[in-house]
Amino acid sequence: MLHWEEPVSFVKGATAPVRKAWESLGIRTIGDLLLTLPRRYDDFSRITKISDAQNGDFVTLEGTVIKCIKLNTFRKRFAVFRLMFDDGSGKLAANFFNQPWVLEEFKPGRKIFLSGKIAIKAPYGKTLISPIWEPAEARTLAAGKVAPVYGLAGTLIQKTYRRLMQYVLENVEWPEDAVSEVDRSKLKLLNQEEAIRAVHEPNSSDHAEEGRRRLAFDEVLGYQLALGAERMKATKAGAPAITFDQVFAKKFVESLPYPLTGDQKKAVWASLQDMERGEPMARALASAVPMRRLIQGDVGSGKTVVAAFLAAHVHRHGFSAALLAPTDILARQHAATFQRLFASHNIPFALVTRTEKRLYQGREEEVLKNEQVESLAEQGNVVLIGTHALLEQGRLPKDLALAVVDEQHRFGVGQRESMILETRSDGHVPHLLSMTATPIPRTLALTLYGDLDISLIIEKPAGRLPIKTFVCQGQGREKAYQAIRDAVARKEKAYIVCPLIDPSDALGVSSVTEEWKSLSKGPLEGLKLGLLHGRLKPKEKEETMDAFKNGDVDVLIATSVIEVGVDVPQATVIAIEGAERFGLAQLHQLRGRVGRSNLPSTCFLLTDTEGSGLERLMTMERVQDGFRLAEEDLKLRGSGQLLGTQQSGHEALTIARITDGDIISNAREEARRILDTDPDLSKHPLWKRAVEGMRDSAHLE
Ligand code: ADP
Ligand code: MG
Repeated sequence: MLHWEEPVSFVKGATAPVRKAWESLGIRTIGDLLLTLPRRYDDFSRITKISDAQNGDFVTLEGTVIKCIKLNTFRKRFAVFRLMFDDGSGKLAANFFNQPWVLEEFKPGRKIFLSGKIAIKAPYGKTLISPIWEPAEARTLAAGKVAPVYGLAGTLIQKTYRRLMQYVLENVEWPEDAVSEVDRSKLKLLNQEEAIRAVHEPNSSDHAEEGRRRLAFDEVLGYQLALGAERMKATKAGAPAITFDQVFAKKFVESLPYPLTGDQKKAVWASLQDMERGEPMARALASAVPMRRLIQGDVGSGKTVVAAFLAAHVHRHGFSAALLAPTDILARQHAATFQRLFASHNIPFALVTRTEKRLYQGREEEVLKNEQVESLAEQGNVVLIGTHALLEQGRLPKDLALAVVDEQHRFGVGQRESMILETRSDGHVPHLLSMTATPIPRTLALTLYGDLDISLIIEKPAGRLPIKTFVCQGQGREKAYQAIRDAVARKEKAYIVCPLIDPSDALGVSSVTEEWKSLSKGPLEGLKLGLLHGRLKPKEKEETMDAFKNGDVDVLIATSVIEVGVDVPQATVIAIEGAERFGLAQLHQLRGRVGRSNLPSTCFLLTDTEGSGLERLMTMERVQDGFRLAEEDLKLRGSGQLLGTQQSGHEALTIARITDGDIISNAREEARRILDTDPDLSKHPLWKRAVEGMRDSAHLE
């Protein structure tokens, strides 16, 4: 018997490479494995004929092997195998890479299924690249029914994954269901075992969806319970009151290099009022009201200055403030912004990342040791900016009165909670300001983020021009390269973004390196190209970013690591390779890297896709507004992951979707009901465990 919490090494047949692949997909326990849903399903019951298959179609074919040969390539450790395949209606070629065993498997005459995307390649005509395959004689695993298609990594292949999954489903001991039978029938939900079986071994797509919905309910409920419990604790504890200092506020506004937009002013004003309401109420009513506000503002709308304003105000009042950012690059960038904004106010602040600790006092900068950070925290009345390195024991000041979390969806519930609930020694909690550019509709945001108050920053800073957007195919790329060369000639900067091609290359090293090679010898010869990907050391990333910002790198070739928050105002052109691989929301984030000054900017979406994929990309040409784009995306896809996209990694919610409105509101009601009668979840041990699990699994980039 396998138990939920046991490591995946207990799965018979899970070899070291398989475990390593799972590890990189975030799967460590049997429970993780069961709750990691397939990325999609292939309907093997719908077989296409080769003669009917069109370029770009995803198809499943049933036919016979003609032959399979190894091709000669000149690259070391890179082998290509070509299968020729016939289904009676026509012939087709399929390429497999670095899988020498296909020579053994694909004996002439063998009947197999192939599933993949049709491309037209001269001289072979219709071709499948790295398709999934199944022997037709063994209809056991997937063939003839709806087959799960899992996310892969390393050397793990689909067939192995499915086989191991089947073993787990046969041998797992099902834990007790956390949703009672009464509630299940009321809410029309499958029980947990049925749901998990349904997502991994569905009878039909509808069946799989029914399973997913139950698991989404659990996920949202767990999330709501975690948030709700945090909120209740914080409210009970109360926060220090920060009285509004009009003289200082006026001085700060006057010192800014630009006038605040109307929406920025509203966000600042609402937050200042929230923070003032803290303690007086606590004294009067014995229940304080800490601020819990979410600032939702499209990319480039100027959220950072709002955070800086509030932090300065809190410092002025004699307390500390901290700003938590998801990556080193962003934390450093915020520090640079704060340095400019604080210059005339003599507010000491420190940058704390894993690799760097610096104190900024006016114009001076000092490199800090760990002990010095701790002594800063000890003294208090300081502003700290950092990554999760800030959350290490003893680094947050005991007089923390304001916690700002930038790109809040990138942090887990647990991280936020420890920042809020465990920092102050007097039992109070700091005020919380979250900031996000994720454009989710307001009603959904309310449901999802519970009782956070929301400030919207819609208005862009004055003088911003729309970002001209073009979808380019084939030779059209030249237009993008020309625009980049022109921009560099005007002393502006450009980005080229490459998608992650192979999930085992999660850091995107190979895709950007290849792109860099071909561009530096080809269309961008003579320009200074910088390279940014996940394998670089933090120091190297910094140097590259600095060279791009201030130095002599003209064009930054990067993976989507630049997606969040990077702010280089003189960058005016962005070209996104393989644009069809990104969601619209993510493309919008990427596009937001340009158009950050009054210079005209351009975004090129480079793609070879056709049909509906192309249409989807064209919406980017028409629509500039992030919220509208999110809605368009929804209409086109009918669903979508709730928070962010797959590529941006481990989000708090991975199963629930933006279209699960009914599930989300049911789960929220249920969470309320549970917390009303059982705030510490002592009567709901299963949920308590789930909530703890949710905290622990909180993941940081
Ligand atoms: P985001 O909301 O995406 O985090 P940032 O805070 O990085 O946006 O701001 C984007 C850019 O706009 C920065 O270069 C910032 O200096 C500039 N900016 C912010 N507010 C204003 C304003 N009111 N007027 C002009 N420029 C502004
Ligand atoms: Mg930002």
